[in-house]
Amino acid sequence: MSRSAVSAFSALAASLILLSGCAVTPSPTPANAPLRFLLINDVYFGDTVRDGTAGLARVASIRDSLQRSGPVSLVLAGDFLSPSLLSKWYRGEQMRQELNAAGVQRVTFGNHEFELNRDTLISRIANSRFKWTSANCMLSTGEPFPGVSRWDTSTINGVKVGVFGVTIVEGYSKYVKCSNADSAAHSAIAALKGSGAQIIYGLTHQTKEADSLLLMREPDLNFILGGHEHEWHRILIGDRRLLKADANARSAQLLTLTRAANGWTQSDELIRIDKRFPFQAATQAVVSAWNDSAAKRLGRERVVATTEFPLDGRDAVNRTQESPLGDLVTDAMRLGTSSDAAVMNSGTMRIDDILAAGPITNYQLESIFLFSDETRIMSFPITGSRLRAILEHGVAEGSVGKGPYLQVSGVKFTWDHTKPTGSRIVGDIMKSDGTVIGPNDTIKLAMNVYPACEGGDGYVVPEAKAACDMRDSAPRAVDLLLKRMSQDSKGRVSPPVAGRVIRQ
Ligand SMILES: [Zn+2]
Repeated sequence: MSRSAVSAFSALAASLILLSGCAVTPSPTPANAPLRFLLINDVYFGDTVRDGTAGLARVASIRDSLQRSGPVSLVLAGDFLSPSLLSKWYRGEQMRQELNAAGVQRVTFGNHEFELNRDTLISRIANSRFKWTSANCMLSTGEPFPGVSRWDTSTINGVKVGVFGVTIVEGYSKYVKCSNADSAAHSAIAALKGSGAQIIYGLTHQTKEADSLLLMREPDLNFILGGHEHEWHRILIGDRRLLKADANARSAQLLTLTRAANGWTQSDELIRIDKRFPFQAATQAVVSAWNDSAAKRLGRERVVATTEFPLDGRDAVNRTQESPLGDLVTDAMRLGTSSDAAVMNSGTMRIDDILAAGPITNYQLESIFLFSDETRIMSFPITGSRLRAILEHGVAEGSVGKGPYLQVSGVKFTWDHTKPTGSRIVGDIMKSDGTVIGPNDTIKLAMNVYPACEGGDGYVVPEAKAACDMRDSAPRAVDLLLKRMSQDSKGRVSPPVAGRVIRQ
């Protein structure tokens, strides 16, 4: 995709690399000063990614550098408190501190923020130096979260800039209620217009399709800075922009509004956060301290097993079909809990990466399961007919390709994607050895806490109630996996037996 913007980036990179100081760009006067917005989204950790690029401390240094030539607003379009390795233990506190240090000014909710419990989320909001805005996600009482505005305005270079936030509507925890994003946005835009905002933008966390339609429908909306997708996007509706950056601050989007005779001209720039940019020391100090605390908890990173096959944990694979990673994980769940069968919703496996054949470390295994419920495994008796209902939900329309899709162990079945939801499984459900599981047979099923106890991904499993009441003493998926790979397999892991789920 070609980028029309004149490269402010080269000047920016040069000023950082050559360290030639603030003399490079003279400070513009307020009358002609552009309005600038630096967007990051879906940032689950502040550290660099595996190849050494990205990092919040680099974003902070870019913001600092830009600020020498006039104000720039650093905003984050949702998904940052969860999930991550550190959030499993610290529930987003580490990100709150790192984002405070980096000088993020405004955020909206991503869908993953609501994985924290109510009081934790409220506390994170209360202790943020950055502002929170959401027009459509409220407490279940209908009241806004304390400290979260529906919309807000600020005056930048003498211009009144209005912002609102909206978040994709999903099946969240009971304490939160998100109303229709389009109508919430529409009311917010009207209110902002009424308040005299000269520029109005949306800070959103929804699909790019929903964002594009919103921009098309709302002529008074100047631009959208969004998140949720993990790859950068740049979509133009006339001259109005919808921008998203790459996840984990691998890139940032810089939007510049320049005053023109008949309004504002927009230009944009995708800034890849690579090794050319220095780390801002204050932010990096906070990031490093939290990384040290992970090392204290997990001990040193060490090789725990060697796999003879690549563990494909990419979402695109894991959420549409039986995968070697899914087979391995669910086998570990089944065997480690002495169950007959095991299922896990694929959305619980968060690695979204291929672990190459060869040595695998404890950190890599920990990084497969990132939710703060620690992916504890419940086991409980269930009838064959109820097992079938659960497996049907996993292959339902709306489940395949998404988080609810199940990885399974100890069972095999065939399903037909052309059949209606609820009756897609063809023929009997069998145990691995081919024995039919009849509707009235009772088996012992292992299932992770999110679908089993929380109604997560639309699963309703009353049979798990007693196990869920004791969930804190249930085994963690990662410990079962570690045992399976290091002890049962004696550190040498061959590909699990496949052919469990056949798609017709
Ligand atoms: Zn998201």
